[in-house]
Amino acid sequence: MVKIALDGPAGAGKSTVAKEVAKRLQMTYVDSGAMYRCVTYLAIKRHVTMQDETGLSNLANAMQLMFIPSEHGQVVHLDGVDVTDAIRSSEVGALVPLVAKHARVRECLVEKQREMARTAHSVVMDGRDIGTHVLPDAVVKVYLTATLDVRARRRHEELVRQGFTGSVADVMKLLHERDEIDGRREIAPMRPASDAVVLDTSCLAIHEVTAMVVSLCQA
Ligand code: C5P
Repeated sequence: MVKIALDGPAGAGKSTVAKEVAKRLQMTYVDSGAMYRCVTYLAIKRHVTMQDETGLSNLANAMQLMFIPSEHGQVVHLDGVDVTDAIRSSEVGALVPLVAKHARVRECLVEKQREMARTAHSVVMDGRDIGTHVLPDAVVKVYLTATLDVRARRRHEELVRQGFTGSVADVMKLLHERDEIDGRREIAPMRPASDAVVLDTSCLAIHEVTAMVVSLCQA
């Protein structure tokens, strides 16, 4: 059983790299951010407020989640419905750190994440606290980062493909706010594990970062 932890802020390239590493090394990819996004998406739909820890943790407990590998990456099924694009909306993106702050939501999702890792033959998991908290025994831990400007441009391109009409500056503001909440929260804040390799991807192409992570895994 091989476990790889890929952490870092939004737009640093984690999910693209994790999917590619999983494909090349034939590992299961677990997108832990998608799990927090699914709870947020359900909360919006069911009018559960972002302050209602009990309501949110009930949603997290009850939801049935499936990650299905596809030609273009991964499809996310939530209670039998394809929510791959819906959970990437800017509305979900703005609210998700408020959901992820709650201890009971995190406990529930961390348990699901560890269970997914246990049942996989080998796993690449990306997130914010994978190396520090979810899989502290991962054999390879990488913390991907990039300047806020580069990350905002990358995320803006993604959002525009989904119909977003805002500017790069709007995305930069959103990412900055998200980083602040994720980095300052009391439970499992976003940070590199003490034994993580920190890679700044600002001036690197995705294929270069992937090659570096693959070589760390094969070392
Ligand atoms: O990775 P992604 O941008 O999809 O993550 C969305 C949000 O989910 C993060 O901004 C953070 O608030 C939360 N998250 C987390 N812990 C993780 C993964 C994501 O708190 N392991």
